[in-house]
Amino acid sequence: MTISLPPLGLPFRLIDRSLFPSTCWITGEPVQPADQGLSGGVRRRLERFLGWPFCPRCGATLGPWSDLSGCRRCPARRLGVERIVRAGPLDEPLSSLVRLLKFHGRWPVAAILASWLGAALEQHAAGQVDVLAPVPLHWRRQWRRGFNQAHEIAAYAGGRLNRPVLDVLRRIRPTAPQTRTQSVTARADNLRGAFEAFTHPLLAGKRVWLVDDVCTTGATLRAAAAALRALPAGIRPASICAAVVAVADSTPIPAND
Ligand SMILES: [Zn+2]
Repeated sequence: MTISLPPLGLPFRLIDRSLFPSTCWITGEPVQPADQGLSGGVRRRLERFLGWPFCPRCGATLGPWSDLSGCRRCPARRLGVERIVRAGPLDEPLSSLVRLLKFHGRWPVAAILASWLGAALEQHAAGQVDVLAPVPLHWRRQWRRGFNQAHEIAAYAGGRLNRPVLDVLRRIRPTAPQTRTQSVTARADNLRGAFEAFTHPLLAGKRVWLVDDVCTTGATLRAAAAALRALPAGIRPASICAAVVAVADSTPIPAND
């Protein structure tokens, strides 16, 4: 499968090709400007990720003989959404690309991640996406980081899919970074009630897809979906799904399995 990166549009209209490096973001190999910082090897691995089967309920990678109705990891990762689509597992090179964007401020990488997520949505949910809703950061963290990576990814993916991107969620209290709260239970407690949803005329009766960069335990998606479901009847979405760039496969499998 060949994934073509779409021409840059909103909100990346200000990205000049010179902002993409002349060497691969991951391997350091020389690349052409049109490669957007990805060597052939990295691109091929990302394309392979798109072909890997994953669980539609929790996003975990599935083996070749798995049943698509659910997997062994589902009981430990309840996302609270109807289904999930991912670009790949939280593994190299996706994990490094996410880190470059999130923690090193290489924000043109958002366009690359969005291209792969958009391709995954076209592959698994063509014609089933009405609205994209990025998972927000608390304003203080966004102020420190300078951007919300989920919003940047959603905006570019929305451009590719020609679908509206609505900032209809707000993080109403700061939460400890999920990377510092390790247990599944602690992560769920950390996020419970952390979001509120705004009403919007484009939400009512629509198929809304939450967008985020990473899913580990699923606590963030579950809390964000709960906020949307708490909207009054009549202005609530018809369904809530999730589009996530990278899903961790490391969530513990329940002990009785
Ligand atoms: Zn599963």
